[in-house]
Amino acid sequence: MNTAKSQELFNQAQKSIPGGVNSPVRAFKAVGGNPLFIKSAKGAYMYDQDDNRYIDMINSWGPMILGHAFPAIGEAVAEAVKSSLSFGAPTAKEVTIAELIVDMMPSVEKVRMVNSGTEACMSAIRLARGYTNREKIIKFEGCYHGHGDSFLIAAGSGAITMGEPNSPGVTKGVALDTLTAPFNDLEAVKTLTDANQGNVAAIIIEPVAGNMGAVLPNQGFLEGLRQLCDKEGIVLIFDEVMTGFRLARGGAQELFNIKPDLTTLGKIIGGGMPVGAYGGKKELMDFVSPVGPVYQAGTLSGNPVAMAAGLTMLQYLNENPLVYKEVEDTAIKMVAGMQQNVESLGLPYTINHIGSMFSIFFTDQKVTDFETAKSCDTALFGKYFQAMLQKGVYLAPSQFETLFVSNVLSDEDIAHFIKANGEALKEIT
Ligand code: PLP
Repeated sequence: MNTAKSQELFNQAQKSIPGGVNSPVRAFKAVGGNPLFIKSAKGAYMYDQDDNRYIDMINSWGPMILGHAFPAIGEAVAEAVKSSLSFGAPTAKEVTIAELIVDMMPSVEKVRMVNSGTEACMSAIRLARGYTNREKIIKFEGCYHGHGDSFLIAAGSGAITMGEPNSPGVTKGVALDTLTAPFNDLEAVKTLTDANQGNVAAIIIEPVAGNMGAVLPNQGFLEGLRQLCDKEGIVLIFDEVMTGFRLARGGAQELFNIKPDLTTLGKIIGGGMPVGAYGGKKELMDFVSPVGPVYQAGTLSGNPVAMAAGLTMLQYLNENPLVYKEVEDTAIKMVAGMQQNVESLGLPYTINHIGSMFSIFFTDQKVTDFETAKSCDTALFGKYFQAMLQKGVYLAPSQFETLFVSNVLSDEDIAHFIKANGEALKEIT
């Protein structure tokens, strides 16, 4: 495969951008080789600067559930830019998108738009702290809630991929206020709340973790957290930046029928534009400025072009719930094919799957938390990633990420993926 133009751009990029990339995992450091520079994407495919075509299994890390360059979103953006790119004043579209989110997300009664998932999570814990007048938060090892200081403690995603789950630069004081428990371990959470009685403001969790690979909640785990939060007056925050509008129209909270107090959103909500949001019970959301005392603001929050993209995406999903069946059916076929490959080669690897998210873990252990995820052979994953790339399949360049399925993958693409998976596994083992 000729990737000369990407190599040239990467060499150039490293002179003016740290590591040549604007987000660390993109550098392919964990999988070897150099990153590909992408020129364009349409539907299920991405094209690099050398015009190689790849079946895209990341979809911009989640947002592109309808595939790339979905016409209605492009048209809405083109229309919006005619009326200026930003006003810094309220617009009609912000009202419509807020009403739609309230309608779609079971627990959300009011919502505030921000510019990223990181901002949404940072704002949600500030609100929880302000509302409860408590300081500590509990997060789960291997979960990622963006790069806010409070979250870079036992963090998944790029942080663990880069070997930096606890980032330098986070002060000891901040780190002390973030307590961590293993995912799926309710007893460990209870031990923490007992030891910090009356001082835990929030428990924040990815209801399905996607940032240590896809890791599902055990039966009763999320219910247990809900009960514990009710009992202790703790704000339960579901980080649905990944799962929101992906696992169901109403996200993981609809799927599992559990209502958190606050929900953070990102990715799909922007249709590919930089958007995040946090929302929840009225009583809590009315604690945010200008109604309440908890301050949070943004020059470009609710940006009209971003709102045009996000609104078009959400309206489409709201009116076409079949999308969820399509993406799940595709994922089921892909996972069944992978499982068959793994079994026929006599390999011990684990595949986790829910809805349109799945991961193959290069370990013989069942992956239910960060410890078991970390038992993976990451060097082997790197070889697998490179082999898949050579066969025209673009995976997330890390063992500690989930894959995302879009609804535009054809039967041919599914067959291509399964065949590539089988050949790649054979080559590397
Ligand atoms: N929360 C989760 C669950 C995420 O997966 C991510 C990003 O991958 C974030 C928060 C942070 O979102 P952003 O990258 O938009 O800041």
